[in-house]
Amino acid sequence: MPVEIPFRRDFSFEYGRIEPVAPGIRRIVARNPSPFTFKGTGTYVVGSGEVAVIDPGPDLAEHVEALLAGLKGEWVTHILVTHTHRDHSPAARALQAATGAPTYGFGPHAGGKREETAVEEGGDWDFVPDVTLRDGDWIAGKDWRLEAVHTPGHTSNHLCFALPDSGVLFSGDHVMGWSTSVIAPPDGDMAAYMASLEKLLGRRDTVYWPTHGPAITEPHDHVCAFIAHRREREAGILDCLRAGIGRIDAIVERLYVGLQPGLRRAAGRSVHAHLIDLAGRGVVEADGPPMLDSNYRLGRL
Ligand SMILES: [Zn+2]
Repeated sequence: MPVEIPFRRDFSFEYGRIEPVAPGIRRIVARNPSPFTFKGTGTYVVGSGEVAVIDPGPDLAEHVEALLAGLKGEWVTHILVTHTHRDHSPAARALQAATGAPTYGFGPHAGGKREETAVEEGGDWDFVPDVTLRDGDWIAGKDWRLEAVHTPGHTSNHLCFALPDSGVLFSGDHVMGWSTSVIAPPDGDMAAYMASLEKLLGRRDTVYWPTHGPAITEPHDHVCAFIAHRREREAGILDCLRAGIGRIDAIVERLYVGLQPGLRRAAGRSVHAHLIDLAGRGVVEADGPPMLDSNYRLGRL
């Protein structure tokens, strides 16, 4: 039986409006819908009066203006970024210019090159956090405190932010309800992603608020389904190799039935991420390093 992921795509919101979604948490969705962002980037506001903004969003003036208008009379004291994709961090610049608040994140975009064509939203190469966070660091505001949880995989600098007093985890693009995450090498790393999923299973957060789409209210079931899904994908790739199918495009053809053409490259990158992980464990081989255009076979282990 194929793994069923309990996707959640019921999402009610209005573009340009800052709306309460839970006690002490508000959200405003940017108008940047795409096959990678669902309805758009959900920018979260934590606290009241003196607030933190999580994932200010894409470089979209109307989004920053709507956020600032919604926060009239309040003070933005912290700008937090889960990771440096272009749908998450670029608006930090305009928000900082307007508020003077410092930015917080794991670090600048890493892996790959600035000029490479991006698989999804691409890297925001210009973002450098004022304050660098590491796993387990705390950031405290007037009526909230957030814990940084390093969750590499989707990107190497991905952080989730936990509000432990209310069981909330802002899960960024690491765990989303509407879709699986894109794991695109070189910055995307399947082994790291799987370890970051396991890491969440060791925590007690009770609800996840991802940057795209609705909340996940049974987070451990959801994470377990993602782990099972990736293991199933890995088994499918090994079946392909056993059948002599060793090129990534042919593996995608075989495994991703009914895939939208616009998502083929992302699927190829995910298969590549699995193959890099498998090669690292000695399970598969290629001639030379495991590249996108390599011909793969089972290893001798
Ligand atoms: Zn992302």
